[in-house]
Amino acid sequence: MNQVVQIQGVEAYQAPRFQVYQHRQIDKIEALSQLPEHLRFEMRVVASVFPFRVNNFVIDELIDWDKVPNDPVFQLTFPQRGMLDDESYDLMAALLKTHPTADQILALAQTIRTKLNPHPAGQMDKNVPELDGETVNGMQHKYKETVLFFPSQGQYCHAYCTFCFRWAQFVGKATRFNNHDADELHRYLKEHTEVTDLLMTGGDPMVMRTVKVRGYLEELKKPEYDHIRTIRIGTKSLTFWPHRYVTDPDAEDLLELITELVDAGKHVSFMAHINHIQELRSPITREAIKRIRATGAQIRTQAPLLNHINTDPDMWSEMWKLQTQLGMIPYYMFIERDTGAKRYFELPLYKTWEIFRDAYQQVSGVSRTVRGPSMSAGPGKVEVSGVTEIMGEKVFALRFIQARNPDWVQRPFFAKFDEKATWLDGLKPAFGEEKFFWEDEYNAM
Ligand SMILES: *Cc1c(COP(=O)(O)O)cnc(C)c1O
Ligand code: SF4
Repeated sequence: MNQVVQIQGVEAYQAPRFQVYQHRQIDKIEALSQLPEHLRFEMRVVASVFPFRVNNFVIDELIDWDKVPNDPVFQLTFPQRGMLDDESYDLMAALLKTHPTADQILALAQTIRTKLNPHPAGQMDKNVPELDGETVNGMQHKYKETVLFFPSQGQYCHAYCTFCFRWAQFVGKATRFNNHDADELHRYLKEHTEVTDLLMTGGDPMVMRTVKVRGYLEELKKPEYDHIRTIRIGTKSLTFWPHRYVTDPDAEDLLELITELVDAGKHVSFMAHINHIQELRSPITREAIKRIRATGAQIRTQAPLLNHINTDPDMWSEMWKLQTQLGMIPYYMFIERDTGAKRYFELPLYKTWEIFRDAYQQVSGVSRTVRGPSMSAGPGKVEVSGVTEIMGEKVFALRFIQARNPDWVQRPFFAKFDEKATWLDGLKPAFGEEKFFWEDEYNAM
């Protein structure tokens, strides 16, 4: 049922119905029918490897169709030719022309996907915690103070961003993290009093109905969990389905749950994925921000820097300023991870740093809460602090923002400058050293 609500600046807002389109429905998306057939064929080819998911709000309100294919939100949500190398593309294109069965497409897709580093940074084997001697799926405990939790009902997302480390979750059951058991989460947190932060992620946990979210979080109000000071919720919903907080039937309930957690003494922070300022333009997004802030929760923002989407430093500085103005806290700029469609989105590290620097220089101190550009790599989150010259050698200055061993954090280290490097594993130590200071210890873990 559609609902009419009052939103500031909009007379009476008629909430649209939530309608999702997936990769098999390219021909059902009316907006795409205006695109040339060759573009739609390319999308079909690429979507066979990288599935997509998009809703009517994104299509109708966030994409400027006269800018397509260059529109940033279009680039973010829909498959692009450049995401596949020529060989993979040609193989899939040839197969699609033969009227293949779904199984044939899947088999080729799987072969291509395994070449795309579906589980970067040792996610599958290195960070899985144990409970009573058994490994617990659906959780990661990489940094001492923070547990990452992937609720099983939140395994999909409002978008299937191909640069996201989650993309592998979206394409195959066998490789998913998940956890059916809120009880396991609670037992683990109760035992691990060193943990101060719970980070609920996905997919997107905000695709879950409130009653499910409550099943995971309400328990944490009890005194046994007083060591859990912060609850973070990673989500794209704030910009891709803000109705979650305004017009969805259980929106009020969700806000009530958040208020209860805040009242129980928790710091609740929404970690909003926002890649482009264009995502913030709808009045209902602004309304959602207001309602979340009214619960006492904070909203922090994060996004990777992506070629074809957000390489303009002026856009970043405007976005951080607007976020700050709307009551959000800019938190991370990430470097595109070594997974999925990296070839399409990646930029050399030095470029990433230049863009960050040029944007950072244009904002005041209140927006300089943002950190980065940061690589979420195996040993930790590594910030590219700068490019400089020391004793005649051009180097990258680096530091751990977060590390597997807390002792590594905040110790500067240096890598030889390399204009092609796009990730930590492409870097060599500077000054003729053989290894980075953390390398032996990391390899032994
Ligand atoms: C980023 C991240 C966190 C949170 O790190 P903060 O520095 O506290 O924001 C926790 N776990 C993993 C695996 C992460 O990548
Ligand atoms: S979690 Fe964020 S980055 Fe990943 S697919 Fe969802 S919206 Fe995209």
